[in-house]
Amino acid sequence: IIQFKDVQKYYGDFHALHDINLTIHPGETVVLIGPSGSGKSTLLRTINGLETIQKGQLIVDGKDVSSDKTNLNQLRTDVGMVFQHFNLYNNKTILDNIMLAPKIVLKRNDAKNREIADQLLKRVGLTDQGAKYPAQLSGGQKQRIAIARSLAMDPKALLFDEPTSALDPEMVGSVLSVMRDITTSSSMTSLVVTHEMNFAKAVADRVIFMADGKILEDSSTEEFFKQPKTERARQFLSQVE
Ligand code: ATP
Ligand code: MG
Repeated sequence: IIQFKDVQKYYGDFHALHDINLTIHPGETVVLIGPSGSGKSTLLRTINGLETIQKGQLIVDGKDVSSDKTNLNQLRTDVGMVFQHFNLYNNKTILDNIMLAPKIVLKRNDAKNREIADQLLKRVGLTDQGAKYPAQLSGGQKQRIAIARSLAMDPKALLFDEPTSALDPEMVGSVLSVMRDITTSSSMTSLVVTHEMNFAKAVADRVIFMADGKILEDSSTEEFFKQPKTERARQFLSQVE
């Protein structure tokens, strides 16, 4: 569903992604790890066109992301993104946050929209919180709402950029368990940037390790944690575990 072919990304003169070759298949859960500044967020953001690439080819759901003909709004409907800092609309209720994009973009009718929103609130463990505003929720609850909002668009794939790294430690577990439910129970394709190695071990089919804008390893989860191929990955693991 996602295919990078020799992709290069520059910010001005700075070469942020080098020779990225990567294929993510439908239904896979892939965890992307690496040191700060290695290009993880950049790679994620290229997938739904939030960052442009300068060379190579990036195909997402059969569409060339760089092509003028590709409708990026459609692409972002099919490939949702969950950010570190939630990006909820603070002046809208939880229900409105979840129902806004389906109403406008998918033209989903109000009754159906509400039914789906209620199901999603239940799924993320926040039944009856719909009338509140984001400021009335904890960080962990806000992040679960952000996940519900992404799911409301019925995406084919979800990109998670360090969804738990801005949370207080006691909030992390509830968000990871929602992510675990989503990534393991459905046909969802997910690419998750995280420093939570236990989560990676439990749910990832594959681990991608990046450093300095390059993919240094692309291994099955078991292989990666048992026997990383590079010294960089070994060092990284000894620091985060
Ligand atoms: P972190 O773990 O800290 O989130 P990351 O792996 O997500 O790091 P990126 O945010 O992708 O790293 O950044 C990769 C490199 O590109 C860094 O050196 C960063 O300074 C640079 N960079 C990122 N965004 C921009 C930008 N908009 N303009 C210029 N340089 C940028
Ligand atoms: Mg980042």
